[in-house]
Amino acid sequence: MASQVFLDGEFVSSDAASVSVFDHGLLYGDGVFEGIRAYDGTVFRLKQHMDRLYRSAKSILLDIPYAKDELTELVCETVRRNHLTSAYIRLVVTRGSGDLGLNPYNCAKARVFIIAEQLSMFPKALYEQGIQAITAATRRTRSDVLNPKIKSLNYLNNILIKMEAMNAGANEAIVLNHEGYVVEGSGENIFIVRDGVLFTPPAYLGALEGITRQAVIDLAPSLGLEVKEEPFTQHDVYVADEVFLTGTAAEIVPVVGVDRRVVGEGVPGPLTKRVHAAFQDIVRADGVRIEGAHV
Ligand code: PMP
Repeated sequence: MASQVFLDGEFVSSDAASVSVFDHGLLYGDGVFEGIRAYDGTVFRLKQHMDRLYRSAKSILLDIPYAKDELTELVCETVRRNHLTSAYIRLVVTRGSGDLGLNPYNCAKARVFIIAEQLSMFPKALYEQGIQAITAATRRTRSDVLNPKIKSLNYLNNILIKMEAMNAGANEAIVLNHEGYVVEGSGENIFIVRDGVLFTPPAYLGALEGITRQAVIDLAPSLGLEVKEEPFTQHDVYVADEVFLTGTAAEIVPVVGVDRRVVGEGVPGPLTKRVHAAFQDIVRADGVRIEGAHV
């Protein structure tokens, strides 16, 4: 069914929402984006998503043609217009339409579009059973080449990594940086559990500063859990008691097998379950309320 998409200043039917073939986002991946979720009328950590979007844009000298408050309200309005209360929201800012050359200064104005729809990244059963992962042969882009902290539209590295997982018959891939340290998943951050302590790679190794990752770090103390942001390797993942991935689209998903090694007992572990439950408890409270949402 068609939805209402915000595109270049107006709401249009998704059937009619199209962008120019000269858009630099399409031609070159020249732009930035956010994936955001609303839960029962609350957009989870929307401020943090908007801050990250504007940071990504600043880093690539992209002028977003809306004030942060205005764009925040447009995100809420997109959910409202689609009569949704829980949704996955995609907010995209491209460099806009230019010519076939690389020069971004030939693009007159940035293009903004917002899509809201219902989405579960993995089938529901996998959240109960856990997923199978492989380690991708493709390494994460080096920070001095294209910094993974920029949530840019240039996601080919991530797509090649996801493709490796699909081609191997797995659900997801774990990514190493150029030095061989584990950084994240194709589109999620990673946590491992060892002896009751949560470990996640520091973002400087080449991971996105994930908002779900930060939420887990923030809620851990309330569960009496310690989180250490420390480098670790593929071996540490293989021998971990538990592994889980975090992301806005994926939410919190247990990993029960990696490269044919069984993780822990081969079922979602107790700490993963506790973190997941605590996450479910905060998502409706920690964010921006959509006034007038059809709750
Ligand atoms: N890493 C990458 C590469 C991602 O694309 C995402 C999804 N935005 C994440 C991590 C998770 O970040 P977040 O929790 O902010 O969605």
